Amino acid sequence: MIYTDTRDSKVKVDFKTAVMKGMNQATGGLYIPTSYPKLDESFLNKNPAPSFRDIALNMAKPYVEGEIPDEDLAAIIQDAYPFSPKVAPLDAASYVLELFHGPTCAFKDFGARFMARTMSYFNRNEKTPLHILVATSGDTGSAVGSAFHNVPGLDVTILYPEGKISLIQEKQLSTFTGNVRALKVKGTFDDCQKLVKTAFTDNGLRKKLRLSSANSINISRLLPQSFYYMYAALMVKNRAPLDNKIDDPSILMVVPSGNFGNLTSGLIAREMGAPIKGFIAATNTNKTIPDWIATGDYEARPSVETYANAMDVGAPSNYERIKAMYSLEEVRKLFGSYWLDNDGIIKAIDACHTKTGYIIDPHGAIGYKAWDDIRKGAMEDLIKGKKNDISVPGLTPNIPDWADDVVNKKAIGVILETASPAKFGQTVSEAIGKEPPIPARLEEVMRKPDRAIPMENDYKKFKNWLLANLE
Ligand SMILES: *Cc1c(COP(=O)(O)O)cnc(C)c1O
Repeated sequence: MIYTDTRDSKVKVDFKTAVMKGMNQATGGLYIPTSYPKLDESFLNKNPAPSFRDIALNMAKPYVEGEIPDEDLAAIIQDAYPFSPKVAPLDAASYVLELFHGPTCAFKDFGARFMARTMSYFNRNEKTPLHILVATSGDTGSAVGSAFHNVPGLDVTILYPEGKISLIQEKQLSTFTGNVRALKVKGTFDDCQKLVKTAFTDNGLRKKLRLSSANSINISRLLPQSFYYMYAALMVKNRAPLDNKIDDPSILMVVPSGNFGNLTSGLIAREMGAPIKGFIAATNTNKTIPDWIATGDYEARPSVETYANAMDVGAPSNYERIKAMYSLEEVRKLFGSYWLDNDGIIKAIDACHTKTGYIIDPHGAIGYKAWDDIRKGAMEDLIKGKKNDISVPGLTPNIPDWADDVVNKKAIGVILETASPAKFGQTVSEAIGKEPPIPARLEEVMRKPDRAIPMENDYKKFKNWLLANLE
């Protein structure tokens, strides 16, 4: 596969270059594939649907062709995914796609684990380890730390702001031994990021250590997230006639979004033949994308803190990829978009629990509420000309191609549950009056000793520490 750059279509690189560089420093653009090969009809029409790993292997193949042989790719997938996504029925027209069955209980495991193993593969003939430096405000650090733990040839140093992340998050990134460690920096997330960025531009340091990042914009995190969209869409297509008495349903993916990497992966799955009719982009108060779809003006802004904090992004980097794939008009035909404030998040967690018995996390709750509103009248109102004011929570005023399917009860919503509710126990208990059950792997990490290393917010000290402790 040839990859190009969102800012310069003359750029042509292979998969290895796109993975190892992360982004194109020369233009500031992001790498995207030049095509999205469709899977064979015979594969797409299998009933029962293929297994998750079978889908993963078939979808990944064209993107690594000529660079990773099939056997090695199969081994990478086998090692990356000892767990699967789960599709759970919620009610007569909805499913939950549970993406939290990996080690850190959030969907980022799918991308981070594939990235770690492809980087390790491309580093296999080097004599020295590749040193990954990551600054984190919480969630990325744990997914990356866990994904890279014990992966050969890679070594990870995570920087986080001391006292500014939750206890669960801190435990999830500071209890590793071996090739992954955490530095608790006396400063803010921005200070952590600055230390890392300074290290990357320090030629003296780079002469001694091979450095790399594990950024969420890396194409090797985006591609594997498309696997679970395909898996869920094929499964729901086969099950809907039985579960829901709807033949040939119009499948809508409801995606709680921040940086829009997850949703972009859904677009890739659709291009490759996943039977997905459309998407509902669901955000918190950081509604840069819903506003863009509504008004046509894209305006990046500072992020605002919300209960769905992994989506607190005011300048979503994958906007560039969406724009490279589709025009605004195409986006308006394909996407509904919806936003919800903190008060709405609490009410949505409660409503979901009361109506279905399902305990949903604050991110998934926005998706739940979006789909519930849309099918219970918001889309019909819009068709009739009653538009929602975009300054209040709700649906944006564009009418997607699939709007009539919703009104005619031909549509099924698949809500992506991006994290386990146990990671957001406090917010969930505020909503429903009880704490969600804690998965064994989270409980286990809570019992481990904290190994974080104290670090001043001082580049010289940071650099000296790296030189003294890494090799
Ligand atoms: C990262 C994250 C999101 C947002 O995903 P994007 O790809 O940034 O849109 C949503 N929910 C949870 C729990 C996350 O960790």
